[in-house]
Amino acid sequence: MKVEILKPCGCCAGVNNAISLAIQAREKHPDLPIYVLGMLVHNESVINHLTALNIITLQNAPYLELLNGIEKGVIIFTAHGHDEKLDEIAKNKGLIIYDTTCSFVKYNHKLIKEALNAGRQVIFIGKKGHPEAEGSLSISKNVFLYDISTGLDFNLLSDTNPLVICQTTLSIYELENIKNDIVLHCPGAKFSHSICNATTARQKALHNINYFSDLIIIVGSKLSSNTSKLFDIALKLYPNKKVIQIKTVNDIVNSDLSSYQYATIVGGASTPLNILEEIQNFLKFK
Ligand code: SF4
Repeated sequence: MKVEILKPCGCCAGVNNAISLAIQAREKHPDLPIYVLGMLVHNESVINHLTALNIITLQNAPYLELLNGIEKGVIIFTAHGHDEKLDEIAKNKGLIIYDTTCSFVKYNHKLIKEALNAGRQVIFIGKKGHPEAEGSLSISKNVFLYDISTGLDFNLLSDTNPLVICQTTLSIYELENIKNDIVLHCPGAKFSHSICNATTARQKALHNINYFSDLIIIVGSKLSSNTSKLFDIALKLYPNKKVIQIKTVNDIVNSDLSSYQYATIVGGASTPLNILEEIQNFLKFK
C-alpha cells in the first residue's frame, strides 16, 4: 500500500511544551510525588509514558476534590487551562506548581478579562466539561457557555454586544453555523478568532489530501477535541473515501484494509509523530 503522512503532523508546540515541563519536573524533583490534574495531553500513549516516569494522572473526580487529596509534592496544571482558584489552593498547601497552560489559551483568558473589565459579558463557545471551557467559565459569572451540542439560553445575557471567544480546538467549519446563531440573538457581538494555529493548520490541510488516496486514517484519542474535529471534517469532505479514527498501530493490526491502495495518515495536535510513523511502516508492507 502507498502511505503518506499529511503535514503538519506531530505534537503542536503547546503539547510539546507541556510534556517537556512534566519531564523537567521529574528530573528536578526525583524524590517527590508528581501529580497532573487531569490528562496532561489528550493522548493515552503520552499518559502511559508519564505514568512510567511515576508522574501520576489524577482524574474521574472534580479537580478541587483531587487537589484537596494531595498533601505534598508537585502539581502540574494541563495545557488547556484550569480554574485559577486552584492556583491559590495549591500555593496554600505548599505544593510546587508547574503550569503548562498553552500561550493560545492564556491569550484568550487575557481577552476575556479585558472584556469583563470593560463591563462586557463574554460568550465562550466550547464543549461542556472540557478543561478549557471549565477554566474559561471559572473566570467570572459573566462568562457564558455556548455549548457546541446544546447551544445557549440567550436570556441569561444582559449585554447585547458580548465578546465571543471559542475553545482553541473547535472546527473552523462548525463555528460558522454557531456564529450565525449568535448574531441572530446578539447582532453587536464581537468575535475573536480564537481557534489556535495548530488546529487551524491541520483542519485546512485536510483539503489537500491526495486525489488517489482511498483511505484516510485519523490518528489520536477520542478524548482529543482537535483530533475528533479532524475526523468529522474528513467525513464531510470525502464521502467517497474510507475514513477511520484510531489511537495506535495496534488498532489496525487485525483490520482488513486489503482493498485499499493509498492511505493518508492524519495526526491530531496531541498525537506524537512516532505513532504516525509506526502506522506508516506497518501499512507500507500491506
Ligand atoms: S492544540 Fe492549540 S491550544 Fe492546544 S496545546 Fe496545541 S497549540 Fe495550544
